[in-house]
Formats: sequence, C-alpha cells, structure tokens
Amino acid sequence: MNESLARAVSERVDELVALTVDLIRFPTVNPPGEAYTPCAEHLACILAARGFETRLIRGEGAPGDSDRYPRTNVVARREGRAPGPTVHFNSHIDVVEAGEGWSVDPFTGVVRNGKVFGRGACDMKGGLAASIIAADAFMAVYPDFHGAIEISGTVDEESGGFGGVAYLARSGFFSKPRVDHVIIPEPLNKDRICLGHRGVWWAEIETHGAIAHGSMPFLGDSAIRHMAAVLSAFEAELYPALDAKRTDMPVVPEGARRSTLNINSIHGGQTEDFFPGLPSPNVADSCRIVIDRRFLIEESLEEVKDEVIAILERLKRERPRFDYSIRDLMEVLPTMTARDAAVPRALAKAVRAVFGREPDYVISPGTYDQKHIARLGHLHDCVAYGPGILDLAHRTDEWVGIEDMVQSATVMAMALDTLLRKA
Ligand SMILES: [Zn+2]
Repeated sequence: MNESLARAVSERVDELVALTVDLIRFPTVNPPGEAYTPCAEHLACILAARGFETRLIRGEGAPGDSDRYPRTNVVARREGRAPGPTVHFNSHIDVVEAGEGWSVDPFTGVVRNGKVFGRGACDMKGGLAASIIAADAFMAVYPDFHGAIEISGTVDEESGGFGGVAYLARSGFFSKPRVDHVIIPEPLNKDRICLGHRGVWWAEIETHGAIAHGSMPFLGDSAIRHMAAVLSAFEAELYPALDAKRTDMPVVPEGARRSTLNINSIHGGQTEDFFPGLPSPNVADSCRIVIDRRFLIEESLEEVKDEVIAILERLKRERPRFDYSIRDLMEVLPTMTARDAAVPRALAKAVRAVFGREPDYVISPGTYDQKHIARLGHLHDCVAYGPGILDLAHRTDEWVGIEDMVQSATVMAMALDTLLRKA
C-alpha cells in the first residue's frame, strides 16, 4: 500500500464530496441532453484550476445535437515533467431521467449517512469525481511524474455515445500516440475490474400481409398471424439454442453468461391511438417487432444474424404467402481486454493493496463507451473500474458511498503510480 497516496486521497474527502454534489446539480438528463454545456464548462473550470489544459468539443452533427441541446464534451490534459505514456480517465456526464418516487430531490446532491444521493451519483458522477481526486492526489505526491494524465467528461453514453466518445474517438482522441491507457470509472463496484461487454444486434423484422375487411379475413392475409409463426419458431428453436450457448466471458450477473434475445416491441395492424379499443375491422397488412440480441465473444455477428434469417427463410419456404423484411438497427461487437494488459494489471495490483484480496474480473451484460475506444480508437488497453454499486444505476434514490469513492480513488491513484512512474 502506498501510504502517501492513500493519505493524499483521504485529505481530499471533503473536496471529493463537494465535486460529486456539484456535478449532480447539473441535471444532465439524456434524452434530450439537458445542461451539457454548463456541466462541461464547470468541469473544465475545476480541471484548469488543477493545472489541466482543457478543451470543449461539441459533437457537431451527432444524433440529438442542436443549438438548443449541443453535445458538449470536455477533454483535459496535464503533461508530466518528461515524455511518457498517457493515462485517460473517461466518464460520461449524462444521466437517465430521474423518474418518480424519490425520497430526496434527485438534482440537489443530498449528503446523508456517508452517502451522496442523486440522479447520476452512482452512474457515474461519483466515479468522475473520484478520478479527478485520484489524479490530483497523484500529482501532488509525485509532481515530477512522466507522461500525461487526461480526464474527459463526455455526453450521450446512455443513448449510444455517438456525440461523445464515438465522436472524440473518430477525431483521434482515443488513439495512440495521444493515449495509451484508458480507465472508465463506471459503477462496477470498487473491487471489480470490468474487462468489456457482450455484443449487440438490434433489428426490426416486419411480416407483410394484405389488407381486407375483418369480417372476411380469408380475402386478406394477416401479417400478425405470420408474426405469430415467427415468434413460435423463436420459442421452439431459437430460445433453447441461445440458452445452450455458454461463454467463457465472466459476465455478471450469472444469467447473462449466455446468449440472450429480448423482443423490445411488437406493433401490428391499424393503430388504436385515435379511438382506444376501437380500430376499424381490418386484416393487418404489416406487423413489426424489434429484437435485441446480446451475443458472446465466441459468436460472430454473421452467425448471430444467420440464425434468425434461417428461421425466416424456412418459414418463407414452408408457410403459404409468408413474406418478411429485416432491417439492422444497431451492431456492437463484443469486446474483452486481456487480463494481463497494463491497465487491468495496474488496477489489480492496487485492489490487492487496498482491499487485501484479488479483484473479480467481470464483463458487463450491456455495452458502454468501451466499444468506441476499441473499435474506432483501436485502443485495447481499456477497462471500466469505479465506485458505486452497479444495481443502483438508473434506480430511484440512487446513491454512491463516500468511503467507496475514497477507496476507489486510492486504487486509481495507485494505478497511476504503476502506469506513469514504474512503467
Ligand atoms: Zn454509466
């Protein structure tokens, strides 16, 4: 355990709490992307005060970007005394909507019983504050460090990261030689290192029919009945097949350690919006579902698609008048950083020193911004590590523990020590 770093972090507890509270007070709700610019400006200001050079970068033209809701990101960099590698801490500043049922105001930042409450406390303004304190403590103890430290606050993670990390990665902010190592302080629990995530394929499947009067359905062709055939084929064949596919990826929770498929929505026939419960009597000429398939590092995107298309093609051969179309909506490849890469090794060493035990290595069931860093930035020394209990993310009365933030800031500071002084 590096006592001077641990002490430097614990001397900054009040600052850590104040930073977290201040960040929660910006209601950076996405969608639509409220208060991004003032939040990014605030971050730029507190990082400039700590010797960072800061830049505000707007994700111009990204989905949702407008003059009313600009996608404003902040990237800050502090050079060491001599050339060396760069460690980058990336946090998203956007939060999901608060929803109903809170016992405190979600955007005040209430401190009570060793916890900070508020929307984004856990996911992930507490992690962002912890990374700033980690860097600050490290720079105070070792002002002569080599290399550079970067901290970014980016937008839109909750909606895919297009105006945030993806935009910056396309502009070279997450590639060598600018950056070597990335830590994303997402709330994965303070003693776990998240190496990556499963893959995603979203697609819309539409079955086609022919409209006719509902009293004479034999004159038409029901797209809804065709979709029912698709769904029963999924039940009979696809779900059991997916359930049987196990992965070596250490996905948490355990139930996600296999392939999964969710049907996000189904729409068929005439809308009931105008006269609830009283649509006119028609045979449905269209029925659509959106599927959300999460896949494993052992599977290729091509085989994932082929599995579904094979069922649809077979129905087309066997079922009279069956016709369909399919449209891709989103594709994300699974990513998993090697356990023996520099960042997970540095974090593991620090977790051992702070907690006296080995870290758990996990994979997230859903994706986060690591996908853009891997695919667009071609940077593979990247993991998620941060304070906060994963299950609290997006819930009412979300909170982050102050002691958890202190401990994970200590882990991050010690990882900086390994990566920038002992490399
Ligand atoms: Zn998050």
